[in-house]
Amino acid sequence: MGRAQDNFDSDWEVTDVLICGCGPTGAMLSSQLGQAGVPNICLDRETGITTDPRGIALDEDGIRALQSVGIYDKIYSDIGKCMGNFNFVGGVHHDLHRPAFTKMDYATTEGGTGHVGFICHKQPALEKHLRNSLLATKSSQLRVQCTLVSITEDDEWVYAQYEDKNKKRRGIKAKFLVGADGKTGYVRKHYLEAKGVRMEHASLTTYEEDWVALNWKITLPTRESHPDFPLWERGYSSEEVYDLFFPQEFRFLCNPERPAVCGRFGLTNDRLWRFEFVVQQGEDGLHMASPEMIKKVVYPYLVHPGSRYGPGQAHHTEILKGWYQERKQQLEASLAATVENGAFTVHRYTVR
Ligand SMILES: Cc1cc2nc3c(=O)[nH]c(=O)nc-3n(C[C@H](O)[C@H](O)[C@H](O)COP(=O)(O)OP(=O)(O)OC[C@H]3O[C@@H](n4cnc5c(N)ncnc54)[C@H](O)[C@@H]3O)c2cc1C
Repeated sequence: MGRAQDNFDSDWEVTDVLICGCGPTGAMLSSQLGQAGVPNICLDRETGITTDPRGIALDEDGIRALQSVGIYDKIYSDIGKCMGNFNFVGGVHHDLHRPAFTKMDYATTEGGTGHVGFICHKQPALEKHLRNSLLATKSSQLRVQCTLVSITEDDEWVYAQYEDKNKKRRGIKAKFLVGADGKTGYVRKHYLEAKGVRMEHASLTTYEEDWVALNWKITLPTRESHPDFPLWERGYSSEEVYDLFFPQEFRFLCNPERPAVCGRFGLTNDRLWRFEFVVQQGEDGLHMASPEMIKKVVYPYLVHPGSRYGPGQAHHTEILKGWYQERKQQLEASLAATVENGAFTVHRYTVR
């Protein structure tokens, strides 16, 4: 017969659901199954969670899923914060403060699907809490440094073999196997696609752009770190300078010359900033991700022309002029009312 399960001479461990991969998807599933009392084993080839903050946007359904595994309290305290508005900014320029031509409001209290809006999260924090939730249930087991290497099935069982950290082969038979090992993972590439199973929707999508995604951890500037920075003299605090250069909400920069997206993610105090830009046709992705090219693409967005703040005196003069005009109107209206009041009061009409 040559079936893999016939060639495996150790005992098959038995479980209800075997999950390959303990990224966010596998950890969430394992945790939910565990809470429902369904025995399951989750394998992951790595030792720990990813330290790379890859995914940063989590929609309302994602928030509800986190709620379902009991980590709602961690969402806004450790994982992330509401993304507020998505600002779509048009034009060929490098101005992060240019008004948006349209906005999508994700800070609504009703939420698009029954919950408050999207959060921008830190994937490592998200994964940490999901794993803790998984480990807290009795029916779930997590096995790290275990790599799935073979799958076969019959009418009743799925037979999977994995290599543990000592390169020893072990076997599990399960009623269900779930591939949560990513789009290039073993389950999809070596088992499903080899059997002709394809993600139909994915093959209909023709979007094939490469993007460079940068995660920056920003340190607040201070008078000590940037002694010659002109805005200190204008009374700006470190926090205000940070807000100017790395504005709060996400910008979708619909610049036909190079579409890009940028914004803060994680908690406010994490000071994490994402900038993603398209690799154009004919450009090499790795070269575009080099420090030299990153400088060329990103730095122009981090420059503020001095004219924005104007020479101090002129700036103050404009503000005073505006204040005077507004106050003058008010003063004239107030004086007119007083004169009228006075007229009423002092005129000795016999009939009132
Ligand atoms: C730069 C970047 C930006 C992104 N931005 C976003 C975003 O804004 N929003 C968003 O939703 N998503 C985003 N993503 C994608 C996001 O990171 C993924 O959607 C998410 O990690 C998918 O989770 P997953 O659990 O399905 O797979 P993964 O996170 O890929 O986890 C798969 C797991 O399977 C394990 N594994 C693989 N093969 C085996 C094997 N043979 N045996 C055992 N274990 C195995 C791996 O070690 C890994 O832990 C981004 C990704 C990148 C790279």
